[in-house]
Amino acid sequence: MSFLYGSSYIFVLVGLLVSLWASWNVKRTFKKYSQYGNSKHVRAEQAAQMILRQAGITDVRIERVRGDLTDHYSPKEKVLRLSDSVYGSESAAAIGVAAHECGHAIQHNKGYMPLAIRSAVIPAANIGSKLSYPVILLGLIFGATGLLNIGTLLFSLVVLLQLVTLPVEFDASNRAMKILDDSSILYSQELNAARKVLFAAALTYVAALLTSVLQLIRLILLRRRR
Ligand SMILES: [Zn+2]
Repeated sequence: MSFLYGSSYIFVLVGLLVSLWASWNVKRTFKKYSQYGNSKHVRAEQAAQMILRQAGITDVRIERVRGDLTDHYSPKEKVLRLSDSVYGSESAAAIGVAAHECGHAIQHNKGYMPLAIRSAVIPAANIGSKLSYPVILLGLIFGATGLLNIGTLLFSLVVLLQLVTLPVEFDASNRAMKILDDSSILYSQELNAARKVLFAAALTYVAALLTSVLQLIRLILLRRRR
């Protein structure tokens, strides 16, 4: 079946390699700047608490979550979750990640529009990511162009989510760096380390978008060929 080994498969392969590189790079950068604690011995969850309090946010809980770099802020639950490698750590890398998640909590608190748009797109994108490939596969099996169109449209919802994720992530990191810059939690060298970790993390979102755009191009090429 040409679906599997056609030349357009190169798009998926390139996307996969870029994504793999980005995720390897963020892990490597995080590990590199995880080794040394900050000179003030502030732990990541304490830094998060300080940042939230400074922003006037008192209704966000901070929890520990299992996994490696699984840190996130849940607007629905108003919970900021820090992963095993961040929670309890005094490293500039961990403080950077914690500050980034605080950035999301502040976005939520201030009604930052792109975050609201992203939250609104998530349910549709989830449906798109679950159904697009089964629908496309059925379209290929039965040679039904209508199904291919629907599948491609479903997949474009995933691309849309990746697209609206970018400003949200970059803004959270910008807020984090500004807060860390203004506060006296980290010194300048430690600030630089945090900035590098957040930049590497931002690249994974760019890579995710690129990967899905390449996949979308492939789907469109696939449909055209029919
Ligand atoms: Zn984020």
